[in-house]
Amino acid sequence: MDLLTLFSANLLLLLIFAISFQAMSLRVTPSVHWRSWAAANGVLVLALVCFAFESVLPRFVAYILPNALLLLGFGFHLYAARVLAKLPNRLSDAFAPAAAYLIVGAIAFLLSDATLAYVGGNFIFTVLCIATIVAYTSKNFHGLISVIGLVLAFFFLAGVGGLRVFHGLVGEGPAGPGMINDTMQGLHLMSAMLFVSLTGAFSTALSFEQVAQRHREAARRDPLTGAFNRREFQARLEDLLHSPSEKTFGLLNFDLDHFKFVNDTFGHLSGDQALVKIVTTVKAQLRKDDCFARLGGEEFAVLLPDISRENAAKVADRLRQLISRIEFDFAPENFRITASTGIYHGNGNELAMEDLLQAVDESLYRSKKNGRNCVTFAGELTATP
Ligand code: GH3
Ligand code: MG
Ligand code: MG
Repeated sequence: MDLLTLFSANLLLLLIFAISFQAMSLRVTPSVHWRSWAAANGVLVLALVCFAFESVLPRFVAYILPNALLLLGFGFHLYAARVLAKLPNRLSDAFAPAAAYLIVGAIAFLLSDATLAYVGGNFIFTVLCIATIVAYTSKNFHGLISVIGLVLAFFFLAGVGGLRVFHGLVGEGPAGPGMINDTMQGLHLMSAMLFVSLTGAFSTALSFEQVAQRHREAARRDPLTGAFNRREFQARLEDLLHSPSEKTFGLLNFDLDHFKFVNDTFGHLSGDQALVKIVTTVKAQLRKDDCFARLGGEEFAVLLPDISRENAAKVADRLRQLISRIEFDFAPENFRITASTGIYHGNGNELAMEDLLQAVDESLYRSKKNGRNCVTFAGELTATP
């Protein structure tokens, strides 16, 4: 491909992605992430034009503008990555690399030292790429596949930047202050095209992966308390019941006592507050693999995989005691809410989920009948033939 075709293809790609990213910012959150990508591509279009016409630019402008625009574009890339990773971020940080280069470029111009501009610009560029890789490897992206493409693309650029720093330091140095050496223009434009199309595609995929992950998470949570919902609870219970493992598990089912009184006395909002506080307290007591779910209203369930009968009973009683000690901002100091619990322990083998849930529910109601604020074990359960 001749240089003009490569150059036009790069410009077109950058512009198309800039427009589609800007359009996406209207629909996909966080919109600032998409606007940063659009800004990065827009600024890189200007940088490319400056690099191409470097030889006709006034000398001072040639020292300053192309590299400063390139670094501003990559500053926006870093900003976008940090926004998506939910890392601390300020818009001014996107301008900092270009601002740092302005100083280096001005000194290089005063000294008529093109190598200084080349090495300084590429050094800042390499650091920026590494910082972007660090952002894309943050824990918020764990489990997402598209991030690998972005990390590899920036890794490739960091490598190229590093090589250029090395070349500037030990080689004969560049002919001019910019980054594009005449004989290497074709290669540069080819890699730029590869980078722009890969990162454009992967960043779009990453953002949609994140949206899908958010929706998946919302589909298994109760929106008020953040506990798992009945769907997730039943799926986990189903897994335990069909697991070939003989390991025993515990299933607690508890219902808050006289909760209607809380609503009637302190109002529905206070009732909501109480539910949230109880869930937060219980959650803090459970292990990572336990499943705590709100089955509906003021009724909850806890699945305790791989636990002995004695420990399951201890957990049930500890949770009962903890709930009965919680103080509420909306109520008098001595006001407490209690819970009545039903509990099953076993390996669940051959049991139908409905039979198990019914048996635990019955033991919960025996707790209610026995004066509330207590735990009752479900009787022996036999498998349905
Ligand atoms: P018991 O000890 O027999 O369980 O008495 P109770 O008053 O808790 O039982 P009942 O089933 O009569 O009342 C449940 C109450 O829980 C009534 C309902 O308004 C309230 N409730 C259910 N879901 C919510 C909710 O999301 N927020 C609030 N504030 N209240 C809720
Ligand atoms: Mg109740
Ligand atoms: Mg109830």
